[in-house]
Amino acid sequence: MNNSTGANDDANLSETIEPPANAWWIAASPCPTWCQYGAFGGHTVQDHPGDRIHTMPSLKVPLAAAMDWQDWGSDAMPRWEPVELMADLWQTFREAEPRLLLADTLNKFYGELTLGEAQQFAGNLAAHVVTARRSVPAVPEADAPRPDWLTGPCPDWCAVEHTPSDHPDDREHRNDASSVPLTVMSFEELATPGGHTFLVPPRLFAHLAQHYREADARVIVHDGEGETEWQLSLGEAGQLAANLAGLVRLGTPAAPGADGPEISHSEEGESWVTRIGRPEYGELVLTREDGRPTIVGLWNVRDADLSPEQAQGFALDILHLLATRNAA
Ligand SMILES: [Zn+2]
Ligand SMILES: [Zn+2]
Repeated sequence: MNNSTGANDDANLSETIEPPANAWWIAASPCPTWCQYGAFGGHTVQDHPGDRIHTMPSLKVPLAAAMDWQDWGSDAMPRWEPVELMADLWQTFREAEPRLLLADTLNKFYGELTLGEAQQFAGNLAAHVVTARRSVPAVPEADAPRPDWLTGPCPDWCAVEHTPSDHPDDREHRNDASSVPLTVMSFEELATPGGHTFLVPPRLFAHLAQHYREADARVIVHDGEGETEWQLSLGEAGQLAANLAGLVRLGTPAAPGADGPEISHSEEGESWVTRIGRPEYGELVLTREDGRPTIVGLWNVRDADLSPEQAQGFALDILHLLATRNAA
């Protein structure tokens, strides 16, 4: 240190440790807005080449309502906690678009989705939740046989033909699964009876299930391989859909030349306020206060016709706000 002057030189013996310099690769791959390292110079020249990655903290959904919990304690002292689903964005050095990572705390499942696949999957989840929430009992055909165990009509979304020989565990209403392909992951080999093989992407499935004596439907998410199955209450599935859609919105840069949304965060008195403003419809406002319910307000909303794309953007903005609440 040569820049100190005068009397204190002898006392100033401790050396200042310089923080490592910013990584050179940032110039070629600048941090997106959502990268947790962007604001703090967290990418440094010390990064291992495999760690040239923009990341963010996960948005989590605890599966507390409909799924078995996991034991994080010991035999002597069990500690039961709900399994958590984690979703976040991840973008490697020079990658054109982030991918969305979906994993659970059981370490059993790890999926990578493109933003388009994530949006489609969020839509699938939301459609199942809406189907279950607005369901009514199906009107059975007059002479349709019904097994003795089935004492009431199926919900209108049930696609199962129930029989008297169903095992008690299988006495369940289900609808047809929807699925998305996971095209950024390794493809799997399928063999035909004729001996030919071909490669297909793994898929992520979702469907509704409700045991005939169960109070409410669940959304089942699985990989089609029997390796992973998550059971979500309707509220948890709605929250996961909101998180995924919010991440898609966050990871999608505005098209060149297009006006992106104006997003701002501020602290006003006891509240935290997040605003999304768009010329098409006006302003959405999320207000959070410790210990108080979150409120999403529609402010100065224009009486306007929206194109399908703008309407989808409107829906995504609301889901983005809800995901913001989850992240707080
Ligand atoms: Zn970064
Ligand atoms: Zn049924």
